[in-house]
Amino acid sequence: MQCACGRIAQVRLDYNATDLCKECFCKLFEDRVRKANKEFKLLRRGDVIAVGVSGGKDSAAMLFVLKKLADEIGEITLKPILIDEGIAGYRDKSEKKARQLCEKLGLELHVVAYKDLYDKSMDEIIAVRDKTRENDAARGENACTYCGVFRKQALNKASRGMGANKLAIGHNADDVGQTLLINLLRGETSRNEADTEEVPEGFVKRIKPLIYNLERECALYCLLQDLPFHRAECPYSKEAFRGKVKTFLNEAENERPGVKFSILNSALSMPNKTEKKGERVQCAECGEPCNNKVCRTCQLKKELGA
Ligand code: SF4
Ligand code: ZN
Repeated sequence: MQCACGRIAQVRLDYNATDLCKECFCKLFEDRVRKANKEFKLLRRGDVIAVGVSGGKDSAAMLFVLKKLADEIGEITLKPILIDEGIAGYRDKSEKKARQLCEKLGLELHVVAYKDLYDKSMDEIIAVRDKTRENDAARGENACTYCGVFRKQALNKASRGMGANKLAIGHNADDVGQTLLINLLRGETSRNEADTEEVPEGFVKRIKPLIYNLERECALYCLLQDLPFHRAECPYSKEAFRGKVKTFLNEAENERPGVKFSILNSALSMPNKTEKKGERVQCAECGEPCNNKVCRTCQLKKELGA
């Protein structure tokens, strides 16, 4: 197979029936990040951008392209942050990959651990939950509910603490589609990915440079650019409802290439979340910004007896 440029093709894109060489595929991938940058005003001179990294393919591809763009634009500081949930045999391995990538790019990696912030690692949280389930199988949340809530707060707090005015997260087109479907299935249609320009006090603005790239393309980009990334899945991921939605979307894409971009377009054309002014308060327990008297993180901590 040949790429349109004449070189040997290495990548097949079923959704538009094209074959691309390494150079043309990487250019396409980076051009999509440039498109997101232009449309959503992601990077500006003077920005201090915290970059959420996990050691996985999405955040590896994101950090690599952001470094490229930041160098081109100038006067942008990137601060990679890794949240160490405390998942033995998983996060320790992926942290090594994140460290290798940061060294390659000349960036310092900041690590924030659940154990330090919440007194418990994810493994300990799940052990507590499983103990409560011995008496009542319906008690406690699935692992990703605890983890997602804790990570969101940890990333925001760490980004704010290091003086960042933006927080880049590695959500790709697949993630946006999955989130829309999950919200529809839960009847929570007011929650979608089209974030507002304004950010409530106490929150660092989240930016999503990868939303025009598919998850598979993030992996291909890392492989073609020879970026270090960890391939294994989190041992708790099978508990997540998101996994079922992901499998469904992958099957739909195989059968009908292009559906992931269609659902992305649907998500982006939905009206923005409206933040009702005056509703934000500080959590009475931890002081972090939230909608209620006590934030979701503190509610879950209490459930765990912390
Ligand atoms: Fe946390 Fe779930 Fe992700 Fe594992 S799969 S790191 S438990 S959110
Ligand atoms: Zn709180």
